[in-house]
Amino acid sequence: MNILVCNAGSTSLKFKLYDMPSEAVLAECRIERVGDGNGGLFSYKNEQKGIAVTEEQKVIPDYEAGIRAFLALLTSREQGVIGGHSDIYAVGYKTVLSKGHYGVHVIDDAVLAGMEDYLVVAPAHNTFYLQAIRTFQKIMPATPMVGVFETAYHQTMPKEAYLYSTPYEWYEKYGLRRYGYHGASHSYVADCLTKRLGYEYKAVSCHLGGSGSLTAIENGKSVDTSFGFSLQVGLPQMSRAGDIDPYFIFYLMKEEGFTIDQVEQDLQKRSGILGISGVSNDLRDVEKAAPQNERAQLAIDIYCREIVRYIGGYAAIMGGLDAIAFTGGIGENSATVRGKVLSHFGYLGLRLAGREASRGEVSTLTAEDSPLKVFVIPANEELGIARQVAAMRL
Ligand code: ADP
Repeated sequence: MNILVCNAGSTSLKFKLYDMPSEAVLAECRIERVGDGNGGLFSYKNEQKGIAVTEEQKVIPDYEAGIRAFLALLTSREQGVIGGHSDIYAVGYKTVLSKGHYGVHVIDDAVLAGMEDYLVVAPAHNTFYLQAIRTFQKIMPATPMVGVFETAYHQTMPKEAYLYSTPYEWYEKYGLRRYGYHGASHSYVADCLTKRLGYEYKAVSCHLGGSGSLTAIENGKSVDTSFGFSLQVGLPQMSRAGDIDPYFIFYLMKEEGFTIDQVEQDLQKRSGILGISGVSNDLRDVEKAAPQNERAQLAIDIYCREIVRYIGGYAAIMGGLDAIAFTGGIGENSATVRGKVLSHFGYLGLRLAGREASRGEVSTLTAEDSPLKVFVIPANEELGIARQVAAMRL
């Protein structure tokens, strides 16, 4: 069965077509800078025949044009891998949040309405998935669409992990609670850990990338996570604030004349690693600047300290820790961040093997006899989604 996985960003679209259950990738496509009049990257690869089509400056006016260009290649005689749209069993989306639908759902009007309802909580994500889904529905009306919501994996959290200490009716009436995100990534990490550690273990999965979150995993299941109702809490993000005191907002509005939009913009665009360092929202630039720039170093120190604080807290809540897993652009590539974080866990018996992570495969960084294991796991959210769609009865 062929499952197409769609990952939609503000100006980018990524696709992977899987054959399930073999998990073979048949084709993939990456479209960047959608809507840019000067053009953007369009790359397509037929993984079976090794045929690649790359255009560095293809003008893609909107999502629909991008999706149609991809589907034309996918079904073409020379570069394609399928005969027609009907060979796609379902399209799975890395959707983020829909009011009232927090798991894996066949997308219908109610799921779309829930995504509209929560536009204000996940504006940077829901907008683009709504566009992508509606475009696919128009082009392929007979194909089932499945939203694998980023909240799905965290549905196993106990109440004491997901409730905030606000008036109880805020939760009952308005649904204000911790939902958690990055579910496709954390569940893929949990699958990898289960393969290596068996079914009984306590671990923390650290998804550190353009946005970052940590999840406490007990026996494969999420028991706590650092994202909350929104993706604006927890770790400092690249340009978004992590945890802040909500009274910052009241103070700025009541005493300093900020509008709500100004505060929101500052928290989303001028905070996090960028806000502290004043250098960049790309950690590579900040790491490069750090030896000569106090604020850049401070940004890295704060980021790592927060990661340590969460891991330590989760270890205490779970009553032990067997493994720490790093994934995402930073988790996989930044030896600086990993090293700084791991330097705190000698007290749990951590013994590093002194080896580097190898690219593109799961690496174990700890010595054989270390009671606490450390893994670097290349993120594969798309496969996590394909697995969950394949497991559904459609
Ligand atoms: P996204 O979360 O947007 O999908 P990624 O998971 O690819 O993105 O992570 C992007 C982040 O990873 C960027 O902030 C980038 O600086 C960081 N990154 C990538 N490679 C490295 C590296 N070698 N060292 C430090 N940071 C890195």
